[in-house]
Amino acid sequence: MEKVYLDNAATTRVDERVIEVMVDCMRNNYGNPSSVHSFGRDARRLVENARAQVAKLLNAETSEIFFTGGGTEGDNLGIKGVMAANEKKGRHIISTPIEHHAVLHSLDYLLKTGCEITMLPVDEYGMVNPEDLRSAIRTDTVLVSIMFANNEVGTVQPVNEIGKICRERGVYFHTDAVQAVGNMPIDVKALNIDLLPLSGHKFNAAKGIGALYVRKGVRILPVQHGGSHERNLRAGTENVPGIVGLGQAAVIAQAEMSEKVERLTNLRDKLISGIIDGIPNVKLNGHPIQRLPGNVNFSFRFIEGESLLLNLDLKGIAATSGSACTSGTLDPSHVLLAMGMSHEVAHGSLRMTIGKYNVERDIEYCLEVLPEIVLRLRRMSPLYEGI
Ligand code: PLP
Repeated sequence: MEKVYLDNAATTRVDERVIEVMVDCMRNNYGNPSSVHSFGRDARRLVENARAQVAKLLNAETSEIFFTGGGTEGDNLGIKGVMAANEKKGRHIISTPIEHHAVLHSLDYLLKTGCEITMLPVDEYGMVNPEDLRSAIRTDTVLVSIMFANNEVGTVQPVNEIGKICRERGVYFHTDAVQAVGNMPIDVKALNIDLLPLSGHKFNAAKGIGALYVRKGVRILPVQHGGSHERNLRAGTENVPGIVGLGQAAVIAQAEMSEKVERLTNLRDKLISGIIDGIPNVKLNGHPIQRLPGNVNFSFRFIEGESLLLNLDLKGIAATSGSACTSGTLDPSHVLLAMGMSHEVAHGSLRMTIGKYNVERDIEYCLEVLPEIVLRLRRMSPLYEGI
């Protein structure tokens, strides 16, 4: 049976070139970067080299990159750290209901500590209107947290306009770019971004390693206390092999970006048009154009995304219904509901996300298998009337 991995938004296969530098680091550079002896200095050099590599991918300064344990940590640190450091200015935050739980649950926590949160609506494509942001900013607004690209439906926000508005009005702009980094070009300077978390395992580095970009001058406090690592912002001995791998993944992502974006976009559009042409009663979720190169998300009327997922798995195809973090519960996706979708249609959603190791044949195989599964499940559905 063919095996096809179409769950690259959940995580990606680690690039062999990343594995190589990580293994070499574990074998030959096991010093602690905080140690003053040569073993420590060698490890420190590797960490600082990787910091420069990650900075380059984002057009940031090297000193603006802080290594973290991944995207969730970056979101927590970026949001809670800025709110803690700017209490004198105010306690108001603006965000959206389609954020990842790493953001939403950080906001829930801050709400309990006395912060006020304004949630901007999104349209049927999951897009924020920058004018809504403009009118929501108050004198006590400290932070705007709007994701770069959505992990479920792939919609890419008008980050350029959002960044401009935030800079003009003197509020910090945090953007969860976990799904975007390595999958599309990002220039933090040109986009007026103040805080941006990224996660290695979403672009072919290891799991449990990430970074937070913090623009020079942003007032921020640590949320995890201990040693003076990462210039007092993130205590804890650095994950040196993970950091080295992240740097390598950043170099590769930058070098291969245009080819990757073009190839993934072509595969994505082939899968989207194949589904629309081959299966009736389907709805593409997310923005038709402003979407991540590898994201395909459909609702299939009359059936459950979960049963679709399990049947695809039996055929060797890995996909997800809703986001990986919420599968296991049968609650409909909070993202689809915020986009105005009914519970029934949201339940029938399936996400297939393409990565750089996917080939044309993967898409063809998916298009061979999917229509038959959908038809079989619909025949069993009491809601289906053979349309
Ligand atoms: N933010 C978004 C948009 C994500 O998609 C994810 C992971 O799925 C995260 C944050 C969390 O990242 P990590 O898995 O590195 O903690």
